[in-house]
Amino acid sequence: MRPEDIVATIREVDPTMADLVAKEDARQARCIRLIPSENYASPAVRATLASSFTNKYGEGYPGKRYYQGQEFTDEMEVLVQKRACELFGYPHAVVQGLSGAPANLAVYAAFLKPFEGKIMAMRLDHGGHLTHGSPVSVTGQWFEIGAYGCNPDDVLDMDEIRRQALEFRPDILVCGYTAYPRTIDFEAFGKIAQEAGAISLADVSHIAGLIAGGAHPSPWPHIDIVTFTTHKTLRGPRAALILAKSEEHYQKVEKALFPGMQGGPHFNTIAAIGVALAEAATPQFQAYTHGVVANARALAAALMERDYHVSSGGTDNHLLLVDTFRSRKLPGRRVAIALEQVGLVLNFNTVPNARPDQKPLFPDGVRMGTPSVTSRGMKPEHMATIADFFDRCCAITKRGKIEKGTGVFADKAAADALREDVFAFTAQFPTFTYE
Ligand SMILES: *Cc1c(COP(=O)(O)O)cnc(C)c1O
Repeated sequence: MRPEDIVATIREVDPTMADLVAKEDARQARCIRLIPSENYASPAVRATLASSFTNKYGEGYPGKRYYQGQEFTDEMEVLVQKRACELFGYPHAVVQGLSGAPANLAVYAAFLKPFEGKIMAMRLDHGGHLTHGSPVSVTGQWFEIGAYGCNPDDVLDMDEIRRQALEFRPDILVCGYTAYPRTIDFEAFGKIAQEAGAISLADVSHIAGLIAGGAHPSPWPHIDIVTFTTHKTLRGPRAALILAKSEEHYQKVEKALFPGMQGGPHFNTIAAIGVALAEAATPQFQAYTHGVVANARALAAALMERDYHVSSGGTDNHLLLVDTFRSRKLPGRRVAIALEQVGLVLNFNTVPNARPDQKPLFPDGVRMGTPSVTSRGMKPEHMATIADFFDRCCAITKRGKIEKGTGVFADKAAADALREDVFAFTAQFPTFTYE
């Protein structure tokens, strides 16, 4: 179904909601979407989400359900498991995770005793995820956390992580991040976990698509358990997969997820994961993932040419962090708000080794990535244009305290001109189809 047909179908019943969907469609077409965890799911993935599988209940796993009528849900779920195993090279896959956070919780619940278990993971302000033991997450409240961080060059120091792991002795050693622009050494993490007597967990939510497409090394066979969201670089529906190396781990995770934490699986979403996995197994998708990395590198280079401080001096994957305070004396949140007003959408983010008092809501930098713009067909030469838009916006954004009611731009006419240039640029690139 095309987006306008979806809107028309909704409009027959609920014009108010149809308007909101249409406005969101238009926003996603008009803006340059640089949030690295977002993408454009394909028409086939979106159609599968709307399929009759959404009407079906079925607690339990294939062949072991608590409801009748599972002829096709069983066949479908087994097929999706098989595709996940084939694409990522792991022998076992759980496909019922509702999203990334519950998938991680299921892994912790499978292997850790409440209020005794020990997790070692990256600190939030250096690129770790909330579910890696942040104090505001139950993962930080229910388990003992040993946090590691980046070195002064904003990269992971594997010798230091090994030293810390041997001292802290975690039950689970987590790698995989939400804001880390460099290649993850899964082999080193697997070895350290073994030496420390820990289970290794790679949460590859951000880079799952890159791994599937061969644009980032695979965690197989180094890492015991792999979790990831299916809606970021993998370009599927909003959900999560959990892969396991051993049968024993697989069974524990299955039990922890259901009946431990979740109820009935979202079969429409699982079917849509299957479609995304089929798409991800194609040469076109491989080319897409290499394009994502080439674009991120080009964007980082273009920003550094314009004297922006890019964390770790560039990127190996789909995202980059820019310390906007160090670059232009502009806090990340100010830049993110200003950019949105001219049609560039990204998120403010902490940057490792920035000012020590940066807060998650008031950090020194921004995070941006290229999965969405690459899905629209943009190439490295277009990244210079985006860097120019970014730079023009920073140039007209006010520094220092902003008086109430005065707006973030020093020059409103320049902002209007910039917005027009951005919309004219994005109009060249389709959104809901690709290649
Ligand atoms: C996005 C993300 C998650 C959480 O996924 P949700 O689907 O938002 O719950 C977990 N871990 C990492 C590393 C992520 O990037």
